[in-house]
Amino acid sequence: MSIKNNHLTAPEYELNFSDIHPPFETQDAALIEANRCLFCYDPPCMKSCPTSINVPKFIKQIATDNLKGSAHTIFSSNIMGAGCSKVCPVEKLCEGACVYNFMHETPIHIAKLQRYATEKAMDNKWQLFERKPSTGKRVAIVGAGPAGLSCAHTLSREGVDVTIYEKESKGGGLMTYGIAAYKVTPEFCEDEVNYITSIGGIDIKYNQELGKNITVEELQRNYDAVYMAFGVGLARQLEIPGEHLDGVIDAINFIYELRTNDYSSIAVGDKVAVIGMGMTAIDAATQAKRLGAKDVTLLYRRTQEEMPCTEHELNIAKLDGCNIIWLASPKEVLGVGGKVTQLVCNTMKLGEPDASGRRSPVATGETITLDVDMIIKAAGQMPFETLVNSNKIENSKGKIDVKDKSLTNLEGIFAGGDCVNGGREVVDAVQAGKDGAKSIMDFLSIN
Ligand code: SF4
Repeated sequence: MSIKNNHLTAPEYELNFSDIHPPFETQDAALIEANRCLFCYDPPCMKSCPTSINVPKFIKQIATDNLKGSAHTIFSSNIMGAGCSKVCPVEKLCEGACVYNFMHETPIHIAKLQRYATEKAMDNKWQLFERKPSTGKRVAIVGAGPAGLSCAHTLSREGVDVTIYEKESKGGGLMTYGIAAYKVTPEFCEDEVNYITSIGGIDIKYNQELGKNITVEELQRNYDAVYMAFGVGLARQLEIPGEHLDGVIDAINFIYELRTNDYSSIAVGDKVAVIGMGMTAIDAATQAKRLGAKDVTLLYRRTQEEMPCTEHELNIAKLDGCNIIWLASPKEVLGVGGKVTQLVCNTMKLGEPDASGRRSPVATGETITLDVDMIIKAAGQMPFETLVNSNKIENSKGKIDVKDKSLTNLEGIFAGGDCVNGGREVVDAVQAGKDGAKSIMDFLSIN
């Protein structure tokens, strides 16, 4: 057993990381699907979208060959509607709410239709929004992820000049650096950022990190308002013996490396254990398998009923050949010569519900041991507690406290997205950005 790169040939990498959700191949296929929609009154699909996209309206516009209108409907509610069509867990949002489910029929392929309209707009560089004349107001945003970009676009449309400070060398945040490449490619993410900023009035300054290259005081001094949208980032540690052995890595880093390098350069073990059952865990496990790992096992301390990922994501992992062990919690990592060789797990059972409402796992006293040469930790991400504390921003264990959806305790400083809620879906961050922009416009007396 060993951790090494270059397990596969170039065509194999290409096949393994190609788009998991291919688009409609023909216009006719899109039209047929659009015409299945019942254009419901009081549509549940729209209500279940955190950004309230008018789903029947944009589908009707596709059905009547009004693709510009359709893309405008989507982007008016969600400027990252193209990216969201690829990464949203639609089975628990719009498609899960579609009335066809109640008739035991396949729901409308809303995401695929959304992708059809928005990709046409991006490919053709349609400018669907016009920036209002400048108000002379200047807003700084920290973080060019979904919340920051959504806030920036909403403000720019209203004539506000926006400067985004981004610590990475590319925008897109989680979309660019934290999602499986077979769902959304780095090239697409770059195109999406360029499309959003093409409205004008948005300047992204890259490689600029809060607390390192810029300070809150500078931003307060130089801008009329500030929006914090720096997300979460630090991987939660397991706090078990052996965690620091060679071969134990964070899923966040693993996926980041995958997103920023050639697949053939990414090292992966033969026998990989992935700890966790959220979207990041699934993305890490499936990509380890697609990089050429022989054996990948996902371990979760509760059961399928409590898992944070969706059924659809779990099925992707299963189809990729990943093994699943429920009710197993890591106890100790064993190694030889400084390298991981085994993972010992407590066998768990479910006890009383905890604060999250889910039944909490309790150790049974029995253990299982897996032979592994690589362990990927995907037990969640933690907010930047030190950063917010050092800037005297009120918070709850690092998650920024806000009033009226976006206002922090500091004058003129607003916040939204993962740095406030601790980490939700991309579409939630987009809505947070819109809410933040609205609060900022009220604060600046715009409109
Ligand atoms: Fe169309 Fe389904 Fe939405 Fe009804 S619930 S409007 S059928 S997508």
